[in-house]
Amino acid sequence: MLAGRLEGNGSFFVREVETPVPGPGELLVRIEAAGICGTDRHLFRGEFPSRPPVTLGHEFSGIVEATGAGVTRFRAGMRVTGDPNIACGGCAQCRRGRVNLCENLVAIGIHRDGGFAEHVTVPENQAYELPLSLPPERGAFCEPLACCLHAVDKAEIRAGASVVVLGGGVIGMLTVQLARLAGAGSVILATRQAVRRSLAEEIGATGSFDPAAQDIVPGIAGPDGLLPGGADIVFECAGVAETVRQAPKLARSGGTVVLLGVLPQGETVEIEPFDLLFREVKLLTSFLNPFVHGRAAALIASGAIEVDRLVSRCIGLADLPDAIANPPRPGEIKVLVMPGLA
Ligand code: NAP
Repeated sequence: MLAGRLEGNGSFFVREVETPVPGPGELLVRIEAAGICGTDRHLFRGEFPSRPPVTLGHEFSGIVEATGAGVTRFRAGMRVTGDPNIACGGCAQCRRGRVNLCENLVAIGIHRDGGFAEHVTVPENQAYELPLSLPPERGAFCEPLACCLHAVDKAEIRAGASVVVLGGGVIGMLTVQLARLAGAGSVILATRQAVRRSLAEEIGATGSFDPAAQDIVPGIAGPDGLLPGGADIVFECAGVAETVRQAPKLARSGGTVVLLGVLPQGETVEIEPFDLLFREVKLLTSFLNPFVHGRAAALIASGAIEVDRLVSRCIGLADLPDAIANPPRPGEIKVLVMPGLA
């Protein structure tokens, strides 16, 4: 079969490899769609540790073609999405229930072969069923949605809460929608590209803000801002120092900031502890998707989350090396790899 292989830093090729055979407790899945994530580009550049040679692709879904010995919950012909993060279950963090912090975490598409291929093997315990009636592209959104769901759960949004989301990539767009579903009364998305601000307002944001046009702190939290005094909850979904710095200043006294964005390791950001303390701003971080992939799959299956409009392009495996090696095109939100395409 064909697979997109990371073979070392800056070295990514699509080549013929053996079709994998499902081991005991594993499913052989024919990939229908796999999303390209910023992490794949970090892996390509060697900015995140991985285990090359390895097939990348950790956001994927497809059809079960075969099952290994002992599989009981799935059979050939079912559509599934895979939670890529495999926790060991035995380390101190797993035994505390913090599986996203597992000391021996193995991720499909990072440490073992993933979904940028015609087939992938997935442990049965990592798979969740999706309806066959679902358009195949949508299944690839379960993994990023699960990461946003963990963040929204941590924020403990109450009905009517005010929310600011910084960054209008796929993570920001999904967080906007989850915040509304969780009961937020107002959700403002701040992102520089106008096309993204309009899209966000069409899919659930109650307003948007252009941080390039005016200073965001007075523009949102100032006395004449969109949310005078600040928001109950601020989600940082841009992954840049500027928005991390801004986030606490956009939260109201007693409000909550949730950091999702990934900054390069070693990069630091100045935060004013006095301001955090005297306004009792809660600063939280959200990493991966512990115990929420099933709920994300259910949300995708229900159609409650708009994902079709987040798909910028669908490409075949042949175009994958170019897409991985280059930054996203202007305006692009999510590129899907569909091995079935020529
Ligand atoms: P993305 O496509 O890069 O989207 C982030 C967007 O933020 C950019 O496209 C940009 O859009 C906007 N932005 C940049 N500077 C900004 C500023 N100063 N103010 C407001 N918006 C700004 O990334 P993504 O895929 O949505 O992911 C977002 C972040 O989450 C990344 O750092 C990613 O690594 C991380 N992530 C974390 C988890 C987790 O578990 N915590 C999971 C998945 C991803 P404009 O050009 O429109 O401004």
